[in-house]
Amino acid sequence: VPKLAVSTYCLVMPDAIVIGSGPAAAAVTLALAARAEVHVTILDVGLCLESRRSEAVEQLSRTEPGSWGQADLDLITEQPAHTSITGLPEKRSFGSDFPFRDVGQLLGVEAGPNTNRSVVSGAYGGFSNVWGSQVMPFTNATFDEWPVSGAEMESHYQAILREIPFSAEADDLAELFPLLSPSLVLPRASERTDYTLERYKTHRSDLQRLGIRIGKARLAFNGPSCVRCGMCMTGCPLGLIYSAAQTFDRLRSASNVSYHPGLLVLKVFEDRDGSVVVTARDLTDGTVQSFRGDRAFIAAGAVGSTRIVANSLHLFDRDIGMGESVQFVLPFVSRRPTSDPRTDPNFTLNQFNLAISLDEVNRDISLLHFYTYNQAFTDGLPALFRNPHADVLLSHALRRISVALGYLPSWASPGIHLRFSPGRDSMSQPETLVSRDKTDWLHNPMLRQVLLRLLKSASRLDLYPVVPKLLFAAGGKSYHFGGSFPHSHSGASLKTSDRLGRVGPWTRVHMVDAAVFPDVAATTFTLTIMANAHRIAQGVLGMEW
Ligand SMILES: Cc1cc2nc3c(=O)[nH]c(=O)nc-3n(C[C@H](O)[C@H](O)[C@H](O)COP(=O)(O)OP(=O)(O)OC[C@H]3O[C@@H](n4cnc5c(N)ncnc54)[C@H](O)[C@@H]3O)c2cc1C
Ligand code: SF4
Repeated sequence: VPKLAVSTYCLVMPDAIVIGSGPAAAAVTLALAARAEVHVTILDVGLCLESRRSEAVEQLSRTEPGSWGQADLDLITEQPAHTSITGLPEKRSFGSDFPFRDVGQLLGVEAGPNTNRSVVSGAYGGFSNVWGSQVMPFTNATFDEWPVSGAEMESHYQAILREIPFSAEADDLAELFPLLSPSLVLPRASERTDYTLERYKTHRSDLQRLGIRIGKARLAFNGPSCVRCGMCMTGCPLGLIYSAAQTFDRLRSASNVSYHPGLLVLKVFEDRDGSVVVTARDLTDGTVQSFRGDRAFIAAGAVGSTRIVANSLHLFDRDIGMGESVQFVLPFVSRRPTSDPRTDPNFTLNQFNLAISLDEVNRDISLLHFYTYNQAFTDGLPALFRNPHADVLLSHALRRISVALGYLPSWASPGIHLRFSPGRDSMSQPETLVSRDKTDWLHNPMLRQVLLRLLKSASRLDLYPVVPKLLFAAGGKSYHFGGSFPHSHSGASLKTSDRLGRVGPWTRVHMVDAAVFPDVAATTFTLTIMANAHRIAQGVLGMEW
């Protein structure tokens, strides 16, 4: 039986407890810690990169790329690992699986057929250690279904864009997704990207009639400092790609912020005296500790937070639905070859985006992110191309291939389902089943429209989609999921949250990550998580504590 240690904080300053250190938690802490009178306690699983790998990164960051040692490079450039479910292989961060590793946060989680089990990160910085760093706001029309307007979100998007490094360009995408903030310059794009953007310019009005707009990537990275070493997919040795850990590294030095790693939060409740109590298991010795504060902000990732709430409010043996913006991988071939991309050192994050808008108001949008060459291109080709004697053949292929990662919005994607049942004892996490609706991709009306428009635009862009190679990722593998307790016009219930993320009977506990999204647009996701979390925190700061 675990020991119950109660640590009661002195309530002289308003005391906020934040659960997690991913992007949602970073945005909440950013808003709360700016007020010197608020004390912020962060409780986090907080797994970090192994020291030998962080020492190698440190060593590389101190030296010029030309003198980077091979042993250090080998250690931190491990390629993504194949998994048994469909979709992209699982990314690594500087050779490590720590963003996905189970240190207890996945105990009792089971996944249904072709569904991702690794849906809760236990990392310091959460999944932003491995994200593609693509940042665009949702279109204004997306918020029509929310009890929060696009206009209300604007200042919060700006607050986040001031916090992160933001590289972008004002182009046609800004008609749908305004830049909202000054930006840094993107590095030079690949030859293939320049060629496609040129073709888009030439056929712009025809393509726009098809609802197609193309523009450069919008990235949370420091473009001007990029040395084009091509290691973005395995981790930037210069730390140029934003992770929420960077915000916490800075905020943790503030006198009103205290960070506690190694704690797995199990439950939250509101006490009769008006305080909130958060119960967590210490992952080093198994003891259970309680933390008391005035308000709690749950930011454990959409599934992690839903699990904590279901355990706290006894929401067992019922279906809790979530939306996912499903991910697909689609290769394209071009008639005109460009240079062998292996000879053109480049940054390997997303290079340009193609948005297909299927309605008048720009809500029904599918977004495709195009990538320049990285090792995964070669790995994804048939074995024949990887034969050392077939390099000429490989070169011919690589000079013509582009690969896009596309998304459909949650309202055109199969739903995710969570089912919880009580854990072993009152101090355990609940048993959890994650599954996805069955789907018939062939008859998905939005997908058919998207493919049709890509085929119609193919000759103008010289980008021919290889439709038979279209691959849909497993359930939960897009990592763009949420909406278990969507913000609702009618306020809080056991199925919905109010505008401040409060669920059921709670008045001082706030869910702040994508668990509260009414739906998940197919455009990039995490900037809106951060902006919405920031909005909630600012809303709470304006209330009586
Ligand atoms: C490979 C990959 C690429 C991606 N690319 C993009 C992209 O380009 N653009 C984009 O918008 N999004 C992208 N995403 C999605 C993005 O990373 C997530 O949307 C984002 O990280 C979610 O932030 P979060 O704070 O809600 O949760 P997470 O990032 O999941 O963070 C959860 C935090 O909670 C903590 N935690 C979990 N459970 C507990 C518990 N019980 N007790 C205490 N602490 C707990 C963890 O330690 C962690 O710090 C990508 C994701 C992946 C995996
Ligand atoms: S190419 Fe990628 S990994 Fe290399 S410096 Fe630029 S951002 Fe960092």
